[in-house]
Amino acid sequence: MAAQKPGAPEDADPRGGASAAAGGRPAETIVVDPPLDAEEALALLCECINVKTANPPGDEARLAGVLAGRLEAAGVHTDKLALAPGRANLLARLQGVGKRPALILSAHTDTVGPGDMPWQHDPWSSRIDGDRLYGRGASDMKSGLAAMAMAMIVLRRAGVRLQGDLVFAASAGEEVDCLGARAFVASGALAGAGAIVVGEPTGGEVAVAHKGAVWLTVSTSGRTAHGSMPAQGVNAILRMQRVIDRLQAVRLPGPEHALLGSPTLSINTIQGGSAVNVVPDRCRIDVDVRTVPGHNVETVTAAIRAAVGDLGFPTDLEVRAAPASVETDPDLPVVHLALDAAARISGRPTFARTVPYFTDASVYQPALRLPVIIAGPGEARLAHQPDEWVAVPRYLDAIRFYIAVAQAYLVG
Ligand SMILES: [Zn+2]
Repeated sequence: MAAQKPGAPEDADPRGGASAAAGGRPAETIVVDPPLDAEEALALLCECINVKTANPPGDEARLAGVLAGRLEAAGVHTDKLALAPGRANLLARLQGVGKRPALILSAHTDTVGPGDMPWQHDPWSSRIDGDRLYGRGASDMKSGLAAMAMAMIVLRRAGVRLQGDLVFAASAGEEVDCLGARAFVASGALAGAGAIVVGEPTGGEVAVAHKGAVWLTVSTSGRTAHGSMPAQGVNAILRMQRVIDRLQAVRLPGPEHALLGSPTLSINTIQGGSAVNVVPDRCRIDVDVRTVPGHNVETVTAAIRAAVGDLGFPTDLEVRAAPASVETDPDLPVVHLALDAAARISGRPTFARTVPYFTDASVYQPALRLPVIIAGPGEARLAHQPDEWVAVPRYLDAIRFYIAVAQAYLVG
């Protein structure tokens, strides 16, 4: 268990220190490293992992209930937002005095399933082994989720007076369709916020951008015939071969993005034909385009239609998902304060990075138009893997990081 950082105020007044005692008001200045009970924090993370929220089906309502119980017991106001049977978002709020826009702490409550590979540890029963805490979601991203909830609890107990609201948005459904994030946006609960911190796995680093995606199913049709007389049919697989050649040459227009580089296109499934002796009349592929800012579902589908438009046969495009790319100007003050907090807590120099995956911010940034910071204790390389784990010291540092960022943004 990590000890308290040197210099932390071990006897801090839980109501807010000297100003509360002297003037009956909570602290208006930043409380550096308010007391953090590592055992309590680890117990909360274990509890989160032990509530199975593999998506599908998700079943996130129970975990929302566990978090609500812990937060309410510490005096943090919460609201559950029901989405479907067994599924819910949780919103928690530390009320500020309304002089600054809110800061949102964003985490998702669902995980992927255990996968086909065997685990040495039970994925649904957390276990601490040395510095590692094992379980499904340890990295992606119940450690970020629990760290954000714990940060709310610690700040509430420290009685810090906030100039704007600190909002904890725990969303269901991120791993499949961002159901919860979309419901949060539709509810209006996050409107007017000034910035958002997403606790997805970055190994404690600070990221400001990620690519988006456009997932497409591309189909060709033909005419079936006996396999012994191919000239009487039209072979949909051979048509698809020509489509694939064109797709391989597609270049989305525009300059390379300074942080994210160029878009990519990858053809990742193919299905066609029904039997060895039948000329196929259908073929389909799934195409995974990863986008950078400046590109979206319209620009991608336009480029693909242009590439296959003169082949002399129809090609069907079906968009299955299109999460947006995310970018934040690394020179914004909120990025600087996050980098400063990360550097102080880790003791290492930091700079603004990118992450390879997309997040709920693909829903939040286009809708809410706010800066996004991505920073969480998990490791991206461990996400969705068997024997997923998170480093215990990094989890505890993430709690300190969220506390520091919230205060730098909302206090003083
Ligand atoms: Zn995640």
